[in-house]
Amino acid sequence: MALIIILAVIVLFFAVLIIRALAVKDKSEAPEEYKKPEIDLDSAVKKAQGAIRIPTVSMADDSFDDKPFFELQKYLEKTFPLFHEKAEKRVVNKYALMYKIEGTDKSLKPALFLGHQDVVPPQAEGWKFPPFSAEIKDGYIWGRGSFDMKSQLVSIFEATEMHLREGKMPKRGMYFCFGHDEEISGRDGATAMANVLRGEGLQFEFIFDEGMTPVNASLIGIKGPLALVGVCEKGWVNAKITVKGEAGHAAMPPKETTAVKIAKGVAKLNKHQMKARFTYPVNMLIKSVCPKASFKFKLLMANADIFKPIIKPILLKASPEVASLLRTTMAITVLQASEAANVMPDESYAIVNCRVNTGESTEDVKRHMQKVLGKGYEVELLELGKHEPTSVSDLRSFGWKMMEKTVAEIWDGGVCAPFPFVAGTDSKFYEGLSECTFKFSPHITDAEYRAGMHNVNEKFKITDVEEDIQFYYRFMQNACM
Ligand SMILES: [Zn+2]
Repeated sequence: MALIIILAVIVLFFAVLIIRALAVKDKSEAPEEYKKPEIDLDSAVKKAQGAIRIPTVSMADDSFDDKPFFELQKYLEKTFPLFHEKAEKRVVNKYALMYKIEGTDKSLKPALFLGHQDVVPPQAEGWKFPPFSAEIKDGYIWGRGSFDMKSQLVSIFEATEMHLREGKMPKRGMYFCFGHDEEISGRDGATAMANVLRGEGLQFEFIFDEGMTPVNASLIGIKGPLALVGVCEKGWVNAKITVKGEAGHAAMPPKETTAVKIAKGVAKLNKHQMKARFTYPVNMLIKSVCPKASFKFKLLMANADIFKPIIKPILLKASPEVASLLRTTMAITVLQASEAANVMPDESYAIVNCRVNTGESTEDVKRHMQKVLGKGYEVELLELGKHEPTSVSDLRSFGWKMMEKTVAEIWDGGVCAPFPFVAGTDSKFYEGLSECTFKFSPHITDAEYRAGMHNVNEKFKITDVEEDIQFYYRFMQNACM
């Protein structure tokens, strides 16, 4: 009898899971018939090559050379004359570029497009072609900045000029802010431009910055690309943990030196990470993907609330990338004790680089560390570069709807899904200027392709220049024209 009851409960449990999965219906409407415009790809690629050849390397030290930034400004003016004729240009802090194209309907909140002019320094060795040669080979443009993000920057200008060439002016005002120091903090470029916009009392319908890309998701049964659109950004802080004690002679070491204590402390922290959580953007990601996934995955996602306790530990172990989506990460990066091999340190410290999850704060991280470490450890949050997690974009907003529409129109069977962005972009400095911020780069990538970013042999697919232009063109048409 007991066995029959157990069996009946198991059957009922699985029946409920299946019914819940079957109840998930794809409610998205079929996209409007959209015919992409012709693009002169040869000319667009040449424009991107020209920009890549100007070595706008941002450096935090005295080796910073500003001549290429002035050269790039001139190059953009020469290459996109119509854009520069119709837009009002302002230069902030000598190098950051701000443009505004007035909208014909003043009742609409303007749009803001972001990008950056700078690139990271090229490593000296290992390039197949010189890093600023923008050589074309095997269907790629090779060079520093080709992926991050000169090609995309040029595409924003090109897409806007295409509309202007058709004799159209936008209904919605369009602002463009292109910083010059994104790769080294964004403090002189984006921060200053955001302050100018705040000073003018502006609010934007949406902000569109570089970020996540569409990926192939055929593995989970999605036909077209899965466009992962960053809708928030983690916070960032360096925490310094210090242990103080007595200096002494290395010939007569006490039982536990400050060096031993700090080593024990960081080992403890590494073991006791902050709690992993399914935050709102992660839940919304599951909700967006679920109706489009194959039944096997639908079964899992539709019952995510039941499976979460089981899948959470699996996800945390799956890969560091997946784990970083679910929790605040604590990377122990610096350990400092004595300067000399025969001197006992009277003070030892560690620096932990933390990326703070949505819904938590830098103070929460400090509290967690202090609780794990206990007495004898001082925890201090360093101010340089510290920022809280950004707000999460409003997924009911007009901007988000236009993002979904454009994804469906540009890629057959494409799915648009919100995504918590774990890296850093300039858009965090524009916090409070819009309820809807996208971090999205509209070209399909895979891990190998993305690995070139900030690395030797950075490259960008020629066909992706077209993808970017097509996406920006249609998005602007949907959202601004
Ligand atoms: Zn970038």
